[in-house]
Amino acid sequence: MVDDYFQRSGHDPRGGARMVLKTATFFLWFAASYALLVLWATAWWTAVPLAISLGLSLAGIGFSVMHDGGHRAYSNRPGTNRLAALSLDLVGASSFVWHFKHNVLHHTYTNVVDADDDIEFKPFFRLTSSQPRRWFHRLQFLYWPLLLCFLTTKWILLDDLRDLARGHIAGHRMPRPSASDLLIVAVSKLNYLVWAFAIPLLFVDPLNLLAGYALATSVAGLVLGTVFQLAHAVEDASFFAPEEGAPLSLPWAEHQLATTVDFARANRLLTWYVGGLNHQVEHHLFPRVSHRHYPALAPLVRKVCARRGVPVLDHATFAGALGAHLRHLYRMGCPAVRQGAGDSADLPRSEHRPALTQGQAIG
Ligand SMILES: [Zn+2]
Repeated sequence: MVDDYFQRSGHDPRGGARMVLKTATFFLWFAASYALLVLWATAWWTAVPLAISLGLSLAGIGFSVMHDGGHRAYSNRPGTNRLAALSLDLVGASSFVWHFKHNVLHHTYTNVVDADDDIEFKPFFRLTSSQPRRWFHRLQFLYWPLLLCFLTTKWILLDDLRDLARGHIAGHRMPRPSASDLLIVAVSKLNYLVWAFAIPLLFVDPLNLLAGYALATSVAGLVLGTVFQLAHAVEDASFFAPEEGAPLSLPWAEHQLATTVDFARANRLLTWYVGGLNHQVEHHLFPRVSHRHYPALAPLVRKVCARRGVPVLDHATFAGALGAHLRHLYRMGCPAVRQGAGDSADLPRSEHRPALTQGQAIG
């Protein structure tokens, strides 16, 4: 059905020329916010909005440029996809580590405990009843935004280097990086220290630099983390524990539909800014299709799923998704939901509804 859509419409499943314009918009946004913040802003009331703008542009580059490039959905040309993926290295994080963590682990083992690193926030968050509960998880529905503020700094300055040193993520061995992979990581981290700290220090005093850095990275972390959490860590999504059977006991498409949730699909501005990642169902089913097409694919996915009696998880609004996330965090922090105690959110979906078979995979 999706193939028919592309054949009938004549659209290129990859991004096409419009993605170049969007990429330029985000990089201009980033460069203007950075230059004005470092070279021009002197009062707090100009610096604060510029630091927020810088953080938003950083997250936007991740959503709209790097993510499509990393999935080879940006362009039909491998070199262009690689270039788009390298935008992550340009802003400080490693596209090499991201590829394994996101493309391989997260997209294969979505919401599988001890395999999907994106749900491993131990010990700070407990996202499923299979993870150990600590007393402070009772308050995780309150403190989650605070911790997400540290997400990008921890990712860039700690997680990438730790994962490369260990050579494995969530128990899975990472492919050995080549010399050029390691060189890109080294240049990327050095480049980050230069643009985030060294250059601003020439123009701004250290205390103001620290304040601006903290605000910009907090905004980026909060936005990136929230968009992810609303797509996978909400009360409607299923989580799978390894002891419940093979991680992929469900057919692939059904697993993606059980663990992934769309939100606020009608919000066009949000869809543009988050690179279609409020259409995570479509993204997880068709990761090699450019995010530009997700709004058109959403009704087709629903049509096929309705015909086969498979629910598509969806929140109509951002507020609705946020509420579902907060209720999930609250519930997972409660003593009643014990480690290993199966609750409905943790049961494999095949126990609730008929399974799709591999041969019936949507598309
Ligand atoms: Zn993805």
